[in-house]
Amino acid sequence: MDQQDIRSELGLRPIVNVSGTMTSLGASIVVPEAVAAISAILPQFVEINDLQKKSSRVIARLCGTEAGFVTASCSAGITLAVAGAMTGSNLAAIERLPDTTGLKNEVLIMTGHMVSYGAPVEQGIRLAGAKVVPVGQATGARAYQLDGAITDKTAAAVYVVSHHTVQYGLLPLEEFVAICHARGVPVIVDAASEYDLKGFLATGADMALYSSHKFLGGPTGGIVAGRTDLVRAAFLQNMGIGRGMKVGKESIVGTIAALEAWEKRDHAAVRARETRNLELWEQTLSAKPGVTATREADPTNNPLDRLKVAVEPKEAHITAWDLADALASGQRPIIVRDHEVEHGFFYLDPCNLHPGQEVIVAERLVEELEKARRSNEIIATPLEHRRNRGAEALRRWPE
Ligand SMILES: *Cc1c(COP(=O)(O)O)cnc(C)c1O
Repeated sequence: MDQQDIRSELGLRPIVNVSGTMTSLGASIVVPEAVAAISAILPQFVEINDLQKKSSRVIARLCGTEAGFVTASCSAGITLAVAGAMTGSNLAAIERLPDTTGLKNEVLIMTGHMVSYGAPVEQGIRLAGAKVVPVGQATGARAYQLDGAITDKTAAAVYVVSHHTVQYGLLPLEEFVAICHARGVPVIVDAASEYDLKGFLATGADMALYSSHKFLGGPTGGIVAGRTDLVRAAFLQNMGIGRGMKVGKESIVGTIAALEAWEKRDHAAVRARETRNLELWEQTLSAKPGVTATREADPTNNPLDRLKVAVEPKEAHITAWDLADALASGQRPIIVRDHEVEHGFFYLDPCNLHPGQEVIVAERLVEELEKARRSNEIIATPLEHRRNRGAEALRRWPE
């Protein structure tokens, strides 16, 4: 595989991804069914709105809802869904956005859901021209706060399901929906990374948004699913602010193919393979001084476990973040899941590996841990350097 790896032709590092599904790493491994559909459609002309009708039927079936369409990303879906909730099918209003004069233009979101997935969720709302109305505090939202935030200008409420959000003290979706519906406010769920295609709509949400390029293994794209009138209003934004979020025929057919493949996938076999990888790494780390490996379930109940690797620098002779950096360097770079590394641990995520790569991960862990143990000093660089490194590199890009 290495010889034909297009990455070496492009001068890019052959990274192994145990970080998860990250836009910055190329999202996911696109499933063969989607790759085939994409290459089949690329040389052909199609009537895009008819292709989107086809996507609507597939999305409706897979999500147990009325309608859907494919857009550029889940992030685009947030903006288009919010825009549609404000304009309905009024084409003149659609062309006027982001000017919302005369429209309901307030969008509620719990403060604990105002997270960043690489860009702020609330910016996706503001892009449509809407005004964001935060509900509650970072670590708490109560029914009276949501109810009290609804006015005659409220167009919609956005609910985010993600490991990024505050995981306690906030309103569960069911209660959030009940309060919003009692006042006629539609609920849009950002479920970009959630494997559950039906549950949020079944709980009563009016729209659910997903990424094509995450767990589904589709091309870059976003899925908008839900009530026909709201989905149509979001779709019509393609004649307005949605133009800059255009999706091509390849992403529409690729998403359809990925959804159909998801329906047929042997999910138990995938889970079993992931579990074997976790067991291998657990075994590999079991006798390593200063390293504790424990399996942890996904925080939003996706059917996925990760290996939490806690590093005690005095014993291991290296901090968790320096180990993450060491693993990410050299000829066989391994990118670990390091969102919380300041607490002295990172995760190994088994869901984006080609067969055999789990062995490379195990070998690299041994290699770097043994190198650290041989070091006379404890490898411990200040965390603030690492924290600011990404932003500094970006300011120098494309250097
Ligand atoms: C990834 C993600 C998004 C953005 O999805 P894209 O399809 O990459 O735009 C939005 N919300 C959440 C919670 C996410 O995890």
